[in-house]
Amino acid sequence: MSDDGPRIAVARTTEVPGDEPEITESHYARVGHVDVRRALPRRGRRNIGAWCFADHVGPADVSEESGLDIGPHPHVGVQTVTWLIDGQALHRDSLGSEQVIAPGQLNVMTAGRGVVHAEEATGHYRGTLQGVQLWIALPEATRDGRAAFEHFDDLPTIDLPAGRATVFIGETLGRSSPARHDSELVGLDLALHGDLTLPLRPDFDHGLIVLEGSLKVNGRGLAPGHLGYLRPERDEVAISAAHATRAILVGGVTLDEPLFMWWNFVARSRREIDEAYDAWESGDERFTTVTSSLARIQAPTPHWR
Ligand code: MN
Repeated sequence: MSDDGPRIAVARTTEVPGDEPEITESHYARVGHVDVRRALPRRGRRNIGAWCFADHVGPADVSEESGLDIGPHPHVGVQTVTWLIDGQALHRDSLGSEQVIAPGQLNVMTAGRGVVHAEEATGHYRGTLQGVQLWIALPEATRDGRAAFEHFDDLPTIDLPAGRATVFIGETLGRSSPARHDSELVGLDLALHGDLTLPLRPDFDHGLIVLEGSLKVNGRGLAPGHLGYLRPERDEVAISAAHATRAILVGGVTLDEPLFMWWNFVARSRREIDEAYDAWESGDERFTTVTSSLARIQAPTPHWR
């Protein structure tokens, strides 16, 4: 811990209620060529603040020619946040972005009213690929706005008594990520080994997703394949990592409006989903093209149609 760094106490007590964290099992799915553990949304736990989707991607073996291999597909109403802990992937989108991402770097794509992207092999990387893809529901003010893409090579880090935190979005302990966010939220990468207390914002819901290793929070074990949820109205959480552990902490202000999510679309009603579906299936100019060698992904028909 650096002398001028933020001060964080070593855990002595826990003030987390006995029934927390609430632990839910992730749902296993296949996305492109890679297995994922989907921590959000879950039945009974649709979102954490504006975070409405969380996939733990991999670890998977990829090659120069075969990576995530997710062909062109649309998004509306969200920001997609990509953060890797192993390997590399290539992002292409309908704004003309072509961006390789590596560990410690961040891709944030703001869909607004509509954007199309593909996630591909890099042409040069072979090895393990592992990371998270998270979605943030955009608020009313920007969810029909312009699409945008940001990449950051370098994010602020914080030395902790038992490891290191990287602030990939939002702010904690006085360190702020430069990434755009349109509601109050935070996303941290935690590389931990030992015991510590992390400060939390009392107005945020929080969730912990372990990627490697395991954590104990309030005596409850959290491992890959779990989401650990913490209710608001606490200002810290005591965490213990008996072995080297990598985890993601997300948090945000509780949403005051229900989301309506279907496929890659985040909206507020079936009518809005129908409009996005029709636009994608008909090739409407709402969704412009992305240059990709992969096949365009057809939208599944909404179950109510
Ligand atoms: Mn996508």
